[in-house]
Amino acid sequence: MNLETFQQSMYTLIVETSTNLPKDVRRAVKRAKELENAGTRAAMSLDTITTNIKMADDNISPICQDTGMPTFKVKTPVGANQIHIQKAIYTAIEQATKDGKLRPNSVDSLDGSNSGNNLGPGTPVIKFEQWEEDYIDARLILKGGGCENKNIQYSLPCELEGLGKAGRDLDGIRKCIMHSVYQAQGQGCSAGFIGVGIGGDRSSGYDLAKAQLFRGVDDVNENEELRKLEEYVLKHANELGIGTMGFGGETTLLGCKIGVMNRLPASFFVSVAYNCWAYRRLGVAVNAETGEIKEWFYQDGADVSFDSAQPEEQEVKSESRVVTLEAPITEEQIRELKVGDVVQINGMMYTGRDAIHKHLSTADSAPVDLNGQVIYHCGPVMLKDEDGQWHVKAAGPTTSIREEPYQGDIMKRFGIRAVIGKGGMGPKTLQALGEHGGVYLNAIGGAAQYYADCIKGVEGVDLMQFGIPEAMWHLRVEGFTAVVTMDSHGNSLHEEVDKSSLEKLAKFKEPVFA
Ligand code: SF4
Repeated sequence: MNLETFQQSMYTLIVETSTNLPKDVRRAVKRAKELENAGTRAAMSLDTITTNIKMADDNISPICQDTGMPTFKVKTPVGANQIHIQKAIYTAIEQATKDGKLRPNSVDSLDGSNSGNNLGPGTPVIKFEQWEEDYIDARLILKGGGCENKNIQYSLPCELEGLGKAGRDLDGIRKCIMHSVYQAQGQGCSAGFIGVGIGGDRSSGYDLAKAQLFRGVDDVNENEELRKLEEYVLKHANELGIGTMGFGGETTLLGCKIGVMNRLPASFFVSVAYNCWAYRRLGVAVNAETGEIKEWFYQDGADVSFDSAQPEEQEVKSESRVVTLEAPITEEQIRELKVGDVVQINGMMYTGRDAIHKHLSTADSAPVDLNGQVIYHCGPVMLKDEDGQWHVKAAGPTTSIREEPYQGDIMKRFGIRAVIGKGGMGPKTLQALGEHGGVYLNAIGGAAQYYADCIKGVEGVDLMQFGIPEAMWHLRVEGFTAVVTMDSHGNSLHEEVDKSSLEKLAKFKEPVFA
């Protein structure tokens, strides 16, 4: 095989997967958008999402800044050299990272250092299979950490919150899947897609669940029982009212695919792989002689083009009050904010995620004066130009709940007034917001191009020793829009939606497939 051409084909596959959402996924997002009423928070979020998809197309830049764990499934003809294929994929991954199409995401699990090129033990994941065809089938999924953290595995029989006992039968499986959607809330950047694996052991069950994510959104399960279950889950999960980003709304789930395999008599696992709306998976058929792409997968059927116009202010206003803020923000300004308000930020904000929060929790001082400032939970994709100037290539919010152990203390100690992230935070932070006078703002998860466009300058960076995604970037922004979902008066939209969706979940307690 011509390895140079094959490597270029893999590079194209990586870039397209990161920047160009497949047609089947676009159609699902479009259907969700049509269901939401104009002016609601869910509609506003979906406007931002579709604007972002279009911007990623136009800029050939990552749809979401978390370009995830690159996972390849490669089928090769008998006789193809898998060692050469693996090396070509590694080189293509490294190049795509250098070009800002992938964020450096491979981190040493013990010392936290970032390899910088997305290569390292276990990264990327490449699963080979041999087959009788004469071409190579190479598929790639980029699944980010926010939704990966919402994967869940059940061991039947078990007791489920809201649903009671789940036994070793189709109804027990149904309950687990419904529960998996409930427990994800908006933290996996809903509306999401789920792949479910029934059976296997703990690791093969998850593999089977993830394999379902390589099915087309529109495909129909050949197993009649599973087809019915998929349809049931898709219909009823959308009655939970979790909605886009967990803001409430009509669409919580965009797709459900279920696979089954044998198990040991003593084990009965139901494994669920949750994928966010930024469902980046593509595939190619490659000529095994020339290394050229001969066909793309998941790109059949009607095209969906989204408008790149910014979400209309008129629609935002219809449900929410819009407040403009510029740091340093006073306690008085913060105490005026209520859950549901839309905040537009101008001026400075500072990124901080896991490493920064851990660092600040024990540090005597912060690298900059954070009094009255805004912290953005974000690990951006950054590129340095020839003049040494940094540019933001993608900069959406990361999952905030990981900072729950630190957030409240850090806000109080350094005087931080606002925290922006996604998915909400817990009771400890909520209490601190009340005591200190702080606010939590939920940005639209995955809208990395939309938010990168709001960033008008990179004014500095600190703590680069933590790696690009974890460093503290000083960003000057204009019109950075997010929703108040936790305020200083003890209100949390996340708590409300969790509570109401748990009540709705309980309606699915009774047997359906008995
Ligand atoms: S859309 Fe959300 S869950 Fe998905 S990769 Fe981006 S930040 Fe993570």
